[in-house]
Amino acid sequence: MSHALNDSYELYNGVEIPKLGLGVFLMKDEHELIEAVKSAVEFGYRHFDTAKIYGNETYVARGLKESGIPREEIFLTSKVWNYDQGYEETKKAFQESLDKLETDYLDLYLIHWPAEKFVDTWRAMVELYESGKVRSIGVSNFQIHHLEKLKNEGLLQPMINQIETHPEFPQNELHEYMKRNGIIHESWGPLGQGKSDLLDSPTLAKIGQKYFKTPAQVVLRWHLERDEVIIPKSVHRNRIKENSELFDFKLTQEDMHEIALLNTETRYGGNPDDQERLKETSIKPLK
Ligand code: NAD
Repeated sequence: MSHALNDSYELYNGVEIPKLGLGVFLMKDEHELIEAVKSAVEFGYRHFDTAKIYGNETYVARGLKESGIPREEIFLTSKVWNYDQGYEETKKAFQESLDKLETDYLDLYLIHWPAEKFVDTWRAMVELYESGKVRSIGVSNFQIHHLEKLKNEGLLQPMINQIETHPEFPQNELHEYMKRNGIIHESWGPLGQGKSDLLDSPTLAKIGQKYFKTPAQVVLRWHLERDEVIIPKSVHRNRIKENSELFDFKLTQEDMHEIALLNTETRYGGNPDDQERLKETSIKPLK
């Protein structure tokens, strides 16, 4: 079994995405974020997931620069926010993200949520991809009906869909749909976002004991067994390290069945079909 932290999946266009990345949602403190990125690089992470709306792209750039890692060794993701959606707006937002991230290409650019103009947004994303400015493109928080709508437009299929996923909300139907269609499943909130008592589950503690692993590591390994990309977030050096120690054990079918019983169909984040929320977040705030 490989112990390599840079184990990857191949997207349908041949691009390799590291299975593990560091998520930086809600990391607003510059020093804290820079230190988190530097620790992650030190522990072998080569994949970072940010978004325009997180307001921290410049700090991610600084952290990567201070870590001394060459740009081509990093897999960098950003996302177009709801109020930047539309054909022209997306191209402009993409350039702004490049400037903030101090790079001339992204490895992955995602539509953050299926806001009203997502088809026009996707048209722009496909053009950005075809012009070589981004190595792969995908979506986030798309349900089956959103993916079907894109399919009917006759455009490229998204390479990835980044969706809330954890044992309490495994998204089994969408997961199977994506598997059938060759869309890589990337999980956000892989640990339940700290909003859940998932990590206190006796089931996870019991399974972890067998492998000298923590409940968080068992959950992250559960995602990997399902062929998902994971981007757990932590600003703590010890947890960043802990969340990377996933490649020296495996869960059995029986472990997977036990964890499946933790499913309560509970979402902790937003619902992609909540039109009110999508509408509100599509209005650009006045500066
Ligand atoms: P997460 O599931 O990664 O949970 C993070 C929280 O879990 C931490 O704040 C901490 O409280 C806890 N934690 C982390 N490591 C731990 C450990 N080893 N032991 C115990 N507790 C631990 O949630 P998230 O940050 O919301 O999701 C991960 C990333 O996904 C984000 O940082 C962001 O990059 C991305 N994301 C994307 C979307 C989207 O709409 N596309 C939405 C939310 C998050």
